[in-house]
Amino acid sequence: MLENKCGTCSLCCKLPPVHSLKKPRNKWCQFCAKGSCGIYDTRPEECHTFECLWLASQKSPYPMREDDRPDRAHVYLEAKEKDGCVVAMCDPDYWNERTMQRVTEWAGKIAAPMFVVVANRMYGPDGRVYMVMDDGRVVTTVDMEQKVELGSVKPEDIN
Ligand code: SF4
Ligand code: SF4
Repeated sequence: MLENKCGTCSLCCKLPPVHSLKKPRNKWCQFCAKGSCGIYDTRPEECHTFECLWLASQKSPYPMREDDRPDRAHVYLEAKEKDGCVVAMCDPDYWNERTMQRVTEWAGKIAAPMFVVVANRMYGPDGRVYMVMDDGRVVTTVDMEQKVELGSVKPEDIN
């Protein structure tokens, strides 16, 4: 998180939990100040290794647009290679029609299935809604068609 190539973006210091810092979802990290990391040299491994798809694309022949930078789009995309899917992490403070439209466009362009996370809900490409619990450790899947609880899965299965 927070490399110079990110410009003024620091959205990944807000949306995901950072377990080693006990930072909850959708709250700014206590060490994030004016778009820079206050503990950059000693930041946790999970911060050090994170790279969203916008950032990764800047080194590719097909960079995503400047307008799609996560602090402008209020969403970042994360590839989950192990699970063969992409997760769109959306800033719940900016979840509106425009953001939804952008995410829908991306979902149409990306070959992998996309899961969309807004606050404590994750919308799957199959229409299921997953509840992301506050502690980040348990996720319950709900089939909205049948309105029945399908069971629990560990976040590492989807996170
Ligand atoms: S969300 Fe992406 S562009 Fe923004 S700070 Fe994190 S890695 Fe950089
Ligand atoms: S420790 Fe630094 S890089 Fe990690 S979330 Fe906090 S501000 Fe961001």
